[in-house]
Amino acid sequence: MNVLTKPKFNIQSFYDGLVTPMKKMKNLDENNAILIKPYLLNLYSKFISEENNYDSCLVEDTHDFLCDDKEFVTSKINDITGETESTIILDANDISYLYNRFQKVNKEYKSILSLAMIGRCPYCEKKDADEIDHFFPKKKYPIYSITPNNLIPSCHRCNQYKGEKSLQVIHPYYHDYNKIDWFKCYIEIRDNTLVVTFEVNPFILQSNNIESIRIKNTIKIFHLKSRYQDWSTLLFYKYINTWTNYYCSLNNVDGKGRVIQHIEEKIKEYQLSNHTKNSYQILFLKELANTFDDLSTNDMEQLFKITH
Ligand SMILES: [Zn+2]
Repeated sequence: MNVLTKPKFNIQSFYDGLVTPMKKMKNLDENNAILIKPYLLNLYSKFISEENNYDSCLVEDTHDFLCDDKEFVTSKINDITGETESTIILDANDISYLYNRFQKVNKEYKSILSLAMIGRCPYCEKKDADEIDHFFPKKKYPIYSITPNNLIPSCHRCNQYKGEKSLQVIHPYYHDYNKIDWFKCYIEIRDNTLVVTFEVNPFILQSNNIESIRIKNTIKIFHLKSRYQDWSTLLFYKYINTWTNYYCSLNNVDGKGRVIQHIEEKIKEYQLSNHTKNSYQILFLKELANTFDDLSTNDMEQLFKITH
């Protein structure tokens, strides 16, 4: 997973511009509707304090702040005389509307998308990051609906897979787990066909420390094992003609060497475009180079469907 730089702005920089033009009404019952704007303006300081809370808790790595009373947001306003007070509960739909406005009118929305490494989803390191995932889901934690550090550039599929789940997963702005080897990639040649499997590293499976739990949850939620397997197979077929040509244009030994050299060049390209060592591209290509190194001439020719 790619580690991303945190957004360089906070709620303070856009809240007023977002809420002040709002005309949205909230139906209290069949006959009564109110403007939600003054209630949202009144919540400004709560959004700010929760944003600070979010950041300090994530930095200190405690999730204590995610308690149930964050599910609904109560706002009180006084009338002009200050004598009467009215309280309404803004539910997740009201706050969702705030996020919809953020999405439609704010340049900050685009600036969140631009935090993705080369426009790529940090969760899967493959697809375009053209959506925003709420790290802590906005339905469950509406108060973090527009908290910039809770907004993660993501691809459509990863965003869908994650959905409303709020399990412990890796946070791309706060956690860097790339020193740990998440997977083992296995390659087999069965019936002259390449079969790729990814397995979670056994020491992660057996461990219950917080890093291992987050890595396991991340792999599970984003279906990384099966997607990595499918994408690696596609990567193989993307280059098979190039490799077959290299192999055939030289003698067996040099041909194999040239194929492995090409794989190593591709690994460098992926590394230079900031793919982590846990990305499927690096894991698969490294294992493929090892597999080819050990493969007999006969197996190599059958895999490349070379006939004499
Ligand atoms: Zn993705």
